[in-house]
Amino acid sequence: MSGHPLCFIFDNFSEGRVLCKPDGTIPSAEEAGGFERYLATAGMVLKRPPCDLWGLFEPGAAVDRRAGYAFVSRRNLPSRDSDIFRRAGVAFQIMCLRLKNKYCGVCGDVMTDHELDRARVCPSCGNVVYAVMAPAVIVAVEKEGAILLGHNVNFPEGRYSVLAGFVEPGETLEEAVTREVFEESLVRIKNIRYFGSQPWPFPNSMMFGFNADWESGCPTPDGGELSDVRWFKRDVLPDIPPSVSISRKLIDDWLARSAE
Ligand SMILES: [Zn+2]
Repeated sequence: MSGHPLCFIFDNFSEGRVLCKPDGTIPSAEEAGGFERYLATAGMVLKRPPCDLWGLFEPGAAVDRRAGYAFVSRRNLPSRDSDIFRRAGVAFQIMCLRLKNKYCGVCGDVMTDHELDRARVCPSCGNVVYAVMAPAVIVAVEKEGAILLGHNVNFPEGRYSVLAGFVEPGETLEEAVTREVFEESLVRIKNIRYFGSQPWPFPNSMMFGFNADWESGCPTPDGGELSDVRWFKRDVLPDIPPSVSISRKLIDDWLARSAE
C-alpha cells in the first residue's frame, strides 16, 4: 500500500497541514483529482517511486465539507504510520523548495529543477539552491536514575520533553548541546554521546540526538522558552511526546536502559 502514489495537499507554507480523507488517511492521486480546481499550484515530489504529488490549496478556498475531507496537522499523522509521516515531510519540503525558488536570486531568471539533485538551478547563471535545513540538537541528560525534562511554553498542558535547540553559526553539535542545556536549565553536562538523527520538517529542522550525563548544577528554567525543568524518575513520568519523534525515542531508550 505504501508504494502507491499519494497526493499531499497542504494549506500553507509554515505548519503545512495536510488534506486527509474522512478516515484520516491521505488521498491517492485519483481521489485528490476533485480538489484540482482549489489548488494554487501543484507538482511531483520526486521523479521516482512512489511518485507522490504535492499541491498547495488556494488561499481562502474552503474544503468541501460534504466530502468529509479536512486539513490535519502532520504532527498527528505519525502515530498511525511513520512512513506516511516521512513522505508528507518530503512532499512539504519539496513544495517549499519549488515555490520559494521560482526566480533566481542572483540574476532573476526563471529557475528549473536540477537534473540530478533535489535542488533548483538557474539556466542563465548556474546558481543552484538546495532545500533549506536548520540543524538542531536534542539531548537526554541523565543523573542517578533520573532524566532531565522541561516544559516548553508552547507544549500542551502537562507535557514534558528532553531539551533541544538550534545550532548556531560556528558551533559544533557538541558545543550546541552543552550551550542549550546550560541556557535552558543552568545544568552542566559531560560524556556527550551521539544517539541518532531525524528530519523534523516543521518547517525544516534536522534533529541530532545525544545522550549526556549530569556534571553540576540544579535545574532552573530559563524563564523564556521553558516554564519548568526538573529531574524525573521512571515511575513518575509526566505526559511525554508521541512515539514517532526522536525526543520520545531518547526517553524510551533511557527507560529501557534504566529498567536493567
Ligand atoms: Zn541566475
